This record gives sequence, structure tokens and C-alpha cells, in this order.
Amino acid sequence: MWLTGCESHAMSCPMTQCIGLHHVTALSGNIRRTHDFYTRVLGLRLVKKTVNFDDAASWHLYFGDTTGTPGTLITFFSWEDTRAGQPGFGETVAVSFSIPPGSAPFWAERLSDEGIACALDHDAKAPVIALHDPDGLALELVEHDITGLTHPHLDELSPDHAITGLHAATLLVSDVEATARVLMDVFGWYETGRSELPGFERMRLQSGAKAQGAQIDLLRAANAPQAKRGTGSVHHLAFRAADEAAQSAMVAEIRRAGLETTPVLDRTYFKSIYFREPSGVLFEIATDAPGFTVDENVERLGESVKLPANLQDKREVILAKLPEI
Ligand code: ZN
Repeated sequence: MWLTGCESHAMSCPMTQCIGLHHVTALSGNIRRTHDFYTRVLGLRLVKKTVNFDDAASWHLYFGDTTGTPGTLITFFSWEDTRAGQPGFGETVAVSFSIPPGSAPFWAERLSDEGIACALDHDAKAPVIALHDPDGLALELVEHDITGLTHPHLDELSPDHAITGLHAATLLVSDVEATARVLMDVFGWYETGRSELPGFERMRLQSGAKAQGAQIDLLRAANAPQAKRGTGSVHHLAFRAADEAAQSAMVAEIRRAGLETTPVLDRTYFKSIYFREPSGVLFEIATDAPGFTVDENVERLGESVKLPANLQDKREVILAKLPEI
């Protein structure tokens, strides 16, 4: 049961530096199957087809709304021939998407027609459909009115049903308070609910903004194992920075908390820094700009393979080694 939170906090708090998630990156054991599931079944658009900038032997595919709006994106590295991950401490264990109010029955039927097991539940009265992607990553579709902020991809689905972006992520952590401190001190988020049972603790934090991915749930379960990374695991969570000044303000807070960060890295579509929060979950802070239309116009997003400048001269070699999509 959720305890009462302070919904009006953000209205009076000038410290909110991050309005929500930018993207979630996970690991796919079969990139063709992942592509089919997220585009044809969930109705997202492939908005960028590139490689992992740190490991060009792996695809990096970005799925989101029509324009790749920050907060709508789930991305995958291809880790073919890799063993399945094991959910546990130090990892994101569920990713939630927003669906329009009233659309849960449509999704339950659509998933059943695809032969995908799903369960209908409620969270703070909102209908939630729980399912797994083809690699076993736990997903949720949560009824949440966030319309007007994104451009859902509507080739497959009507506006009454289409996913409108990320909703939340659930992290399994060894110390709820320590991770919560990072979300509060670095991002300016605040606690909106908490529940405790013997051996089990849960805290909800929100940014207070009307934005996609503005919620994180922290779980601690006494008997949970340490996470083992593999296919079906979330590799990292990226949070939004409005611009580079906001990003460097957050970096200053991370360092003030005694945590280390990478330098700013140019990811072509955003500028990023990475750090591990106290339980070991890898966090990224990514700028909103320049976005996915920096090297393709919006009509052609995701159609051709885009590589960063330092890999262009190896293009043929790189493409020859990547699995087919
Ligand atoms: Zn990322």
C-alpha cells in the first residue's frame, strides 16, 4: 500500500533538474526478433539504426515515437549468442510504457492474439498490463494520460491505443535510501510513496513534471540475488538534461555526492555522461539536443545505417559482421 506523498512538492521546488527518463537501453539476444516485437507488436518506430559506439560489433537500435522524442525511447544492443541475464540487485528489473486511458483491454486482446502471456493489474488505480519481451525483459503498459507531448507512430495503431512514451522504471537496489538520495539530490526528484513488509521495501519517486518517464520505483527484497547481466537485461537508464548547462549542474551534484562520472561523450544524437548510483545501476545523463534528425530527415528516420565519423572508414567491415535485421 502506498503512503501519502507530496504531489505539490515540485510546484514549489526550484531544484528539479531532470524532468524524466531520456531512454532505456537493454540487451537483445536476437535483434530481428526484437525489431519485430517493438515495431509490429508494440507499434514503436525504429528511429535510428546504428552501432554501439563503444563496441561496433553490436547493433544499437533506437525505438520511439515518430520523431524520437526524448522520453519515448527504448534502445537495444545486439548481444547474440550471449546467455540470458538474471534479474537481481543492481539492475533495472521492469520498464513501463504509458498507454492512453481506457486502452488496457485493447492491449490485453492484442497481446493474446500474438500469443504473448500478459496479466492485467492495477497500480494506484491505473490499469497495468504486465508482460515480457522476447528476451524475458519485464515490461508494463500503464494507463496514463500523457497525450500531446509526443507523436505516437500510427502506422499500426490508432491514437486511442498507441504507446505514448516511457512511463517508469523499477530498480532492484541494495539500499533504497542511498539510491533515492541520488534521485533527489542530483535530479531534484521527490518521494511520493513508500511501503514496507518484512524483507521487502518499496519507494516511489517522481520528478513532478508532466513528462514521459517521470517515475522511478525502488525495490529492496532481502532474498533477491545479485543481477547477472545478459540478454533480457537493462544495460542502463538515461535521464534527460535540458541542455549542456543542466547536464554539468547535475555532474557537479554527482561529484558532491562522492560518485565518479565519465567525461562528456558525444553520442551524435545527444551528449552523455555515465555514472553508477550506489547500488551499481548504470545511469546516463543525456541532453535533449540535437536529436535524431541531425543526420536523417524525419520521414527517413531509421532507414539507413548511420555510423559516427570515427567509424566511417570501416563501414563495410563493420556492416559485414553485424547480424541481419
Ligand atoms: Zn544510453
